[in-house]
Amino acid sequence: MKIVCIGRNYGDHAKELGNAIPDEPVVFLKPESALVPPHAPIVLPGFSDDIHHEIELVYSVIRKNGRAQADKVSIGLDLTARSLQQALKEKGLPWEKAKAFDGSAYVAEAFTALESFPAGHHIDFMLKRNGKVVQSGHNGQMLFPIEALIANVERYMLLDEGDLLFSGTPAGVGRIEAGDQLEGYLLGELLFDLKVEAAPSHA
Ligand code: ZN
Repeated sequence: MKIVCIGRNYGDHAKELGNAIPDEPVVFLKPESALVPPHAPIVLPGFSDDIHHEIELVYSVIRKNGRAQADKVSIGLDLTARSLQQALKEKGLPWEKAKAFDGSAYVAEAFTALESFPAGHHIDFMLKRNGKVVQSGHNGQMLFPIEALIANVERYMLLDEGDLLFSGTPAGVGRIEAGDQLEGYLLGELLFDLKVEAAPSHA
């Protein structure tokens, strides 16, 4: 199973990080070991104290008539070691150490079938950190809609049944700390409620 992620897919977020609006999707991968098990806490990694939350719509992929398409949607967290990512970007190096580390991906268990949304319906989502809304958005704000993302990714790699696609984050990203409570909402419904724990000590 692959975890395919899209960067800079919301204009307001690209701007807050000082990035240009991309003219085609920015794609990166996370390994399966990045996934936090359901209901487990978010454990901060030992190598960085600058981990940012990015809440995103996460689509699951099916194949029909030889083509990939999204069939269900949920929400997830693309956790990012921001200062490390910045340093890698400045050196022109790949982002994996900042984006693909173990524990860098959380996906809520409950998915909703896309068929259940009327055409054009906005899929709203938001993240609360310690009870305060820090990020909110909907799929209508995506620079590249899900169909365009899948078509673009498939020019380069097969999308398989069960692969997950993180579709980018709206503005409002920020640092998380041990003790934080992160609540994710899809269409107003609470889908995850996670505690953030400190990195295991190596003393
Ligand atoms: Zn992201």
